[in-house]
Amino acid sequence: MATGKINVSVENIFPLIKKFLYSDHEIFLRELISNATDATIKLKHLYSIGEAKGEYGNPIIEIKIDQEGKKLHIIDQGLGMTAEEVEKYINQVAFSGAEEFLEKYKDSAKDAGIIGHFGLGFYSAFMVGSQVEIISKSYKDEPAAHWICDGSPEFNLLPSTKNERGTEIILHIAEDSEEFLEEYRIKELLSKYNKFMPIPIKFGTKTETKTIGEGEDAKEESIEVDNIINNPNPAWTKAPANLTTEDYNQFYRELYPMQFEEPLFHIHLNVDYPFNLTGILYFPKLSHDLQLQKDKIQLYQNQVYVTDNVEGIVPEFLTMLKGVIDSPDIPLNVSRSYLQADGNVKKIANYITKKVSDKLKALFTENRADFEAKWNDIKIVLEYGMLSEPKFYEKAGDFFLYPSVDNKFYTLQELKDTITENQTNKDGKLVVLYAANVDAQHAYIQDAKQKGYEVLLLDSPIIAHLIQKLESENENLTFVRVDSDHVDNLIKKGEDAVSALSEDEQKQLQSSIEEIVPKGSFTIQFQPMSADASPFIITKPEFMRRMKEMSAHGGGGMFGMGNLPDMYNLVVNTNHPLTQRLLLASDKEKQGLQIKQALDIAKLSQNLLKGEELTAFVKRSFEMMN
Ligand code: ADP
Ligand code: MG
Repeated sequence: MATGKINVSVENIFPLIKKFLYSDHEIFLRELISNATDATIKLKHLYSIGEAKGEYGNPIIEIKIDQEGKKLHIIDQGLGMTAEEVEKYINQVAFSGAEEFLEKYKDSAKDAGIIGHFGLGFYSAFMVGSQVEIISKSYKDEPAAHWICDGSPEFNLLPSTKNERGTEIILHIAEDSEEFLEEYRIKELLSKYNKFMPIPIKFGTKTETKTIGEGEDAKEESIEVDNIINNPNPAWTKAPANLTTEDYNQFYRELYPMQFEEPLFHIHLNVDYPFNLTGILYFPKLSHDLQLQKDKIQLYQNQVYVTDNVEGIVPEFLTMLKGVIDSPDIPLNVSRSYLQADGNVKKIANYITKKVSDKLKALFTENRADFEAKWNDIKIVLEYGMLSEPKFYEKAGDFFLYPSVDNKFYTLQELKDTITENQTNKDGKLVVLYAANVDAQHAYIQDAKQKGYEVLLLDSPIIAHLIQKLESENENLTFVRVDSDHVDNLIKKGEDAVSALSEDEQKQLQSSIEEIVPKGSFTIQFQPMSADASPFIITKPEFMRRMKEMSAHGGGGMFGMGNLPDMYNLVVNTNHPLTQRLLLASDKEKQGLQIKQALDIAKLSQNLLKGEELTAFVKRSFEMMN
């Protein structure tokens, strides 16, 4: 028997480990299973180069709970360690890893981000174990070794009678960590961290029924089989050519068992230079309610789950996607801000952006009808990407779609080609008319369509930002919502109409209207329009409305704009016969009633007539009919 003292400068490292990693105790199991996996893969390699003798077989890793003995066992059939190797790898290497951690932690004490992304390796066993044993038999022809340590720098190293090759780690679970003796808790950890690890992991057994014999002699028999909790060959590790869409959807369900909606499409990532990365991203159905943050993209390193916080690695607009990314090249033991500045990580983000835009373009080109059908579910991600990633904006020109209120889809170029001669304003810019809601803006849409204009349906919450950007990138383009003015004023055709009312008459009518209309609620404008346009029209000026929308949805610069009241114009058509009748009315009371009625009708078409006002309007209308 040998005893010894582990050579470290920090006198008692374990209380520190426990304290610093408090929130993440559970990673011990991931670390120990990772070591067991490494040991098995190393053994396989030794067989492949003829260094190890005999059969490699089908090694597995087993996790066993001993509730009575308050112990947790992690058993592998890997290459094992000799006593000498235990000295070297556990007492020296692993310990220096733990020390290094504390060293690094000191410098970045304020950056809480690093905890939880730092694999502490073997010594994380002491976060939950008051005593840890290693019993290991090397593949080499040497006796097995038995190492025991209670968390102080002293340890015992004894010979052992273990015969089978491999390593067994025994954790004597500490009193404050007894949750890790519960079957459900271990199951939870295995399914979180180890679901796709490359070596089969056994946790308990399960019963399977098997048919034995044939025909009349056939018998059903129950047999106990190993309960393997992982899928060692997940879809992302396979070649895309060997996978069908159903395989990808199947893997999606495996990844998110509680997700019942199928993904819209997938993107298989696979690159090995200048960095290593594999994975599969899925576009989920987003629709309108954005309850999307539950099932996130999962980050793996060599099939070991690390985190589902991919911020800084995946471009922000793509964090709404789902799926997995596996890369050993992402430094995780650093703060997030450092991560964002890392050149390799930036390259990864750019690669992902490019892959996503290539896929979108391919989908658009190969089956445009299908792409259009999916548009509503993907547009928000794309809009967000165009706003936040200049590279994506450039590419999106090829496949970003502008749907009309009649469900016709244009690319920007097609839109420009369609509206060219037909829709320009007085400055000669192309006018893109759009609506945000076909019901609320029905009358305005009808008006525009009757004149032969195309009206888009742009209804996303961040559309105001995108429009603003499109206008700044396309100088000859201007977007206006159909209810921002009468369509005749938005699109200029030929000469201005001549007003049937003189300036004096307009002033006279204005003061009559102001007696009826509450002060400050509308800006009154007189405009000569065609006689078939309504006499009173209520409009929401494009600029103010858009600024207000932008500040409500993340317009950082426009501080306080979100609190502005809505601004409306009351546009009076000076060429409508009713307008002239209102002016000439001899009976003051009747004139007031008619102005009120006309105003209410105009409000009604903007959905602005509600409550008491609406009741009064209905009553008045019936009275006037009588
Ligand atoms: P790392 O895995 O990053 O090398 P660890 O602290 O997890 O660091 O482990 C230290 C070393 O101990 C390993 O590199 C390995 O040589 C050895 N080791 C740990 N667990 C096992 C095991 N189950 N089988 C064989 N060797 C092991
Ligand atoms: Mg390790």
